[in-house]
Amino acid sequence: RGAIAFRDVHFAYDSARPILKGISFEVPAGKTVAVVGPSGAGKSTLSRLLYRFYDVQGGSILIDGQDVRDVTQKSLRAVIGMVPQDTVLFNDTIAYNIRYGRVGASDAEVEAAAEAAQIAGFVRGLPDGYRAMVGERGLKLSGGEKQRVAIARTILKAPPILILDEATSALDTKTEQEIQAALDVVSRNRTTLVIAHRLSTVINADEIIVLKDGVIAERGTHGELIARN
Ligand code: ADP
Ligand code: ADP
Repeated sequence: RGAIAFRDVHFAYDSARPILKGISFEVPAGKTVAVVGPSGAGKSTLSRLLYRFYDVQGGSILIDGQDVRDVTQKSLRAVIGMVPQDTVLFNDTIAYNIRYGRVGASDAEVEAAAEAAQIAGFVRGLPDGYRAMVGERGLKLSGGEKQRVAIARTILKAPPILILDEATSALDTKTEQEIQAALDVVSRNRTTLVIAHRLSTVINADEIIVLKDGVIAERGTHGELIARN
């Protein structure tokens, strides 16, 4: 469930400057494919097209064989979980932020997700626990803590498809490694599209797509790409 196919995808924000010029690749159900490439190559644009922030201008994107343009935003959001580069939390409680999108989740489920995302210990140490407010009128969480809350939200939502868009690139090296370990757990057995700027962060991907000048310049496993370069 959740197989993704990009078929000859074309896209430009400005018609004078095409960003994607015929991109084709697949993310088989349950597998992880990473897209790497220089800044501005169009990596994030691919994830925005999958999530339908924008629509393709040529070609198509399919989920389990169905064109995403035939799926409502609402049902797309139900099957796709996204951990972005910088998580913006709501000015509300930690529990609200983890529950977001799954209002019916029990406290035990929220706690289990926080445990898996390695933020439960931190929350237990707060006087207000899960009722602690975050954001402008509450706690100032670090980048790593915010990412853990976003990961807990994604674990609770348990979507068949996961987009990790440079989810660790804003963090220091030690935090990046810790968050990476949590993300590896979340993406296990889930169709995962990883957007990354460095090959070294996507060693475990089943396939790596190297995007350059709007086309796929190279593809292969981490080992294959290293051997070739
Ligand atoms: P990457 O993720 O590989 O760094 P992006 O997909 O974010 O690249 O962006 C690809 C190109 O499209 C960049 O040149 C960027 O400046 C441009 N771009 C991104 N978003 C927009 C937008 N909303 N409007 C116009 N141009 C954009
Ligand atoms: P109220 O004060 O409104 O009666 P609670 O004090 O039970 O509600 O909790 C406030 C919020 O924090 C609610 O969203 C609640 O579900 C959540 N919450 C409380 N305890 C936990 C917990 N152990 N794990 C997860 N969420 C919790």
